[in-house]
Amino acid sequence: MVQLITRTSTDLPPDVRNAMGLALHAEEPATRAGQALTIIAQNIDQAASCEGPICQDTGMPTFEVKVPVGANQIWMKQQVREAVAEATRRGKLRPNSVDSITGENSGNNLGPGTPIVHFEQWEKDEIEVKLILKGGGCENTNAQYALPADLDHLGRADRTLDGVRKCILHAVWKAQGKGCAPGAVGVCIGGDRTSGYLHAKEQLFRTLDDTNPDPRLAAIEEAVMDAANQLTVGPMGFGGQTSLIGCKIGALNRLPASFFVSVAYDCWAFRRLGVTLDASTGAIASWQYREGETPSVPMLTPEQLAAGFPRTGREVHLRAPITDEQIRALKVGDVVLVSGRMFTGRDAVHAHLMKHDPPVDLRGGVLYHCGPVVAKEGPGWRVTAAGPTTSIREEPYQAEILKRYGVRMVIGKGGMGAKTLAGLKESGAVYLNAVGGAAQFYARCIDRVAGVSLMEFGTPEAMWHLDVTDFPAIVTMDAHGNSLHREIEQASGVRLETVGGC
Ligand code: SF4
Repeated sequence: MVQLITRTSTDLPPDVRNAMGLALHAEEPATRAGQALTIIAQNIDQAASCEGPICQDTGMPTFEVKVPVGANQIWMKQQVREAVAEATRRGKLRPNSVDSITGENSGNNLGPGTPIVHFEQWEKDEIEVKLILKGGGCENTNAQYALPADLDHLGRADRTLDGVRKCILHAVWKAQGKGCAPGAVGVCIGGDRTSGYLHAKEQLFRTLDDTNPDPRLAAIEEAVMDAANQLTVGPMGFGGQTSLIGCKIGALNRLPASFFVSVAYDCWAFRRLGVTLDASTGAIASWQYREGETPSVPMLTPEQLAAGFPRTGREVHLRAPITDEQIRALKVGDVVLVSGRMFTGRDAVHAHLMKHDPPVDLRGGVLYHCGPVVAKEGPGWRVTAAGPTTSIREEPYQAEILKRYGVRMVIGKGGMGAKTLAGLKESGAVYLNAVGGAAQFYARCIDRVAGVSLMEFGTPEAMWHLDVTDFPAIVTMDAHGNSLHREIEQASGVRLETVGGC
């Protein structure tokens, strides 16, 4: 189980690699989308080569287990739990299990509802275990529709397969870059609200390149892929050719009064693997989704990997603390290479700063929406994974924090809303979008951990003081009231009307 978790967290399966390779080749290298996909490809290779988490958000471990009749599921569940705790201790999983009442992180990914383990009996003698690690950013973009419904840009979605198609396209459009596009969707038609989401997630265990055995569903899958990739949402919501790398649809019977369409969105860091186990020894008999122990085919050549961030020569170099003048000179689309000190802060830090002064001087500073994976090394710390988290969660707080504490630069992913956009203008600050999920790539931009505050919030939520060099991110909201996210959402909404109609 530890091997399965480690491989799933660190090495993307071939079908996902193939899809991301096609996405990479569809973009011009010097575009925002091309740069983002090159970073993603580097990140995938770096994660596999150092056995580090592909993304710092290692998600909700979800195991689907098939067992011979008579197998002891209580004992097996305990084995899975022990493996999860061990993989967390080894830094292959981030501590991600938080008490929903106290906010306390259990520290080992164990707790009520974590991990998720589903058992099913079958007539075979072997055991099959499949695992998916789906992070919070993409989980938050899941969507459930009750038909009939009126949808933005698409009009009425009836209780028909065409209505289903519209719902899926709407969910992809709505997700924009928040779920780290290009992603894949698992869909369930029917069921109830609970079974619908479960069945939708189960569709993500199909390979991206398979064909649905039901020709009616296969036709919708194809239609969705075709239309979604004309929306130009693009990688990270930066605009571009590829918005979706997979669409997998299943169906359950429903109550006559209900017609749900449940959409489970998974990001490009689509981590799922499986094994079959010898039921008498527990040894891995074979791997699923991949060729046994054969190393993965790299995304890039060694030269491309060594070249690092693909520069165009137009990048802006800035060192924190940053001045008002430097900030006002930036405009949407600028690629910035940030150096100096940055401070991480996500949900707990933002809530804290609304009531307390910051533990450090944030004037002219860089606030990074990030919950890193950090390993203790002697008296210090080492960051092993540090991609951005979804920024929109901080929308209720961000403008106020900019104003109170003089933060000049916010780095995250997925963009923020109108309130923050106004706050950036008022306070003289910018929002930069880093490449979501590129946890290994960004960890390599961190020279050292200079300190940590608010450790009582747990590792992902603490405020880490990071010294970085040439940390690349794109200005997507500037201090003049411009937002790339708003532009792409509006433009892709118009596209949705064209490509999503009947
Ligand atoms: S790639 Fe993005 S959406 Fe996926 S787990 Fe990582 S941060 Fe979350």
